[in-house]
Amino acid sequence: MTGAAKRFAQISTASPVKPPTRSLRRAVVLGGSMAGLTAARVLSDHADEVLVVERDESAGEGPRPGVPQGSQVHALLPAGAVQLERWFPGFVDEAVAAGAVTLPPDGARVQLWVNGDLRPNAPAERDVPVLVTTRPFLENLVRARTLALPNVTQVPGRAWGLEFSGSRVTGARYTRDGDTELVEADLVVDATGRASRLGDWLEEAGWERPPMRRMPIKLNYATALFAYDETVSDQWSVISQSGAAFTPDGRARIGGVLRVEGNRWIMLVSGYADDRPSSDPSEFRTRCKRDFPDVFGAIAEKARMLSDVVTYHQADSRRRDFHAVTRFPAGLVAVGDAVASFNPVYGQGMTSAALHASCLSHYLMSSPDHNHPATEYFQLTRVVVDAAWQLSTFADLELPHVNGPYPPAYRMIRWLSGKIFQASLTDPSVNQRLARTTTMLAHPNTLATPTTLARALWRTTVRRPSE
Ligand SMILES: Cc1cc2nc3c(=O)[nH]c(=O)nc-3n(C[C@H](O)[C@H](O)[C@H](O)COP(=O)(O)OP(=O)(O)OC[C@H]3O[C@@H](n4cnc5c(N)ncnc54)[C@H](O)[C@@H]3O)c2cc1C
Repeated sequence: MTGAAKRFAQISTASPVKPPTRSLRRAVVLGGSMAGLTAARVLSDHADEVLVVERDESAGEGPRPGVPQGSQVHALLPAGAVQLERWFPGFVDEAVAAGAVTLPPDGARVQLWVNGDLRPNAPAERDVPVLVTTRPFLENLVRARTLALPNVTQVPGRAWGLEFSGSRVTGARYTRDGDTELVEADLVVDATGRASRLGDWLEEAGWERPPMRRMPIKLNYATALFAYDETVSDQWSVISQSGAAFTPDGRARIGGVLRVEGNRWIMLVSGYADDRPSSDPSEFRTRCKRDFPDVFGAIAEKARMLSDVVTYHQADSRRRDFHAVTRFPAGLVAVGDAVASFNPVYGQGMTSAALHASCLSHYLMSSPDHNHPATEYFQLTRVVVDAAWQLSTFADLELPHVNGPYPPAYRMIRWLSGKIFQASLTDPSVNQRLARTTTMLAHPNTLATPTTLARALWRTTVRRPSE
């Protein structure tokens, strides 16, 4: 395994953490969504008091204004479920008791279509749960478990700046009911999502803004909920992705239908660039029938639509390279989308957020000097970001409207990944290894081993796939 792959394996471990001696008096987390809440859970082991500042007053059953993407399909990758179970023991059982769907381990009722072909299912891994829910349902469970911790509190407020003293951050400022509050902290965590203003706050105070890398993806989503109806279909998870070369109109598309809590399906259709699904239900049905396997059309036509069709546009994948900053204050870290946000079709966001929490735990368990910048934390986070970025941006380079940036040795990697993908269709072992990387259970570099590469080449070159 490469260094990055080894580091990734340590970060993504399922092993519980032995509660350490607390080294922080107060930690403040700005933003109380998936990243902020899981970070708060980790911090509860290390700080006497953890305060979460969240601009949304309360969270109900449905999507909330601070997380506008919450009405869209949100698949939790297996690595994310492993981390949630790690930080909140019993989480999976609790989620299932509350209505979450777990996919059958034998792969029944699950379909993955790639470029119009039904792919063989990779065998499910023992001890790796697959939870399927809507986004607000999952987030509410995480919030309930986090706020049940005796030293974690959430307050409503809009964070707007940091307090600095010398070479460190000493607190955060936020507005609550029109009043400005200053809360002092030994550690401030930015978890305000992809529109984070942390760079502005740092620059205004004379510090360096983390450089941002973007890949324009111009992704358009439309999602609706349907009543689950076995007379229409017994499928629980169907994902269909087709590259531009495989659709009649030359447009890449991804669609998904997942059975979720409340005996419902949530169904997504998507397009890129000027291929923009609207919120018109009849257009949604047309797209389901025209662009995706039959089950999409059947559900869209025959099952009862329970919601409006809700659209969402995401312009780019972006990452803020905190590890590349040379002058950074002590007492400050960032997690989740505030660090990196990817093309959502790969389902990496919530799992990345949970893995950032694990990075925070690793960093704090190493008894760092809190008077120094959290450089080691950002080096760990980089491993997780690189892994997700590598997979998603590499795949997005296949999109006709995406023109880079290209990684070094792009052509060679593309050729080899093509072989691995092709081999995975007939070789269960290659399929399993590939699935471990796309579900973030393993770093993508684990595919670059001589054994996997030789196997892929042998399967696709020496042995004909039909043998
Ligand atoms: C269309 C779409 C589909 C997606 N699908 C998936 C998927 O299938 N699987 C997956 O894993 N991920 C998916 N994602 C990504 C996922 O939504 C994010 O990665 C995840 O929500 C990141 O969590 P976060 O806590 O970092 O940020 P967010 O969830 O965006 O939360 C930021 C929080 O900060 C709060 N906040 C913001 N500013 C302030 C402020 N100034 N003061 C106080 N609070 C503030 C907000 O109210 C919010 O609660 C999808 C994203 C999109 C856009």
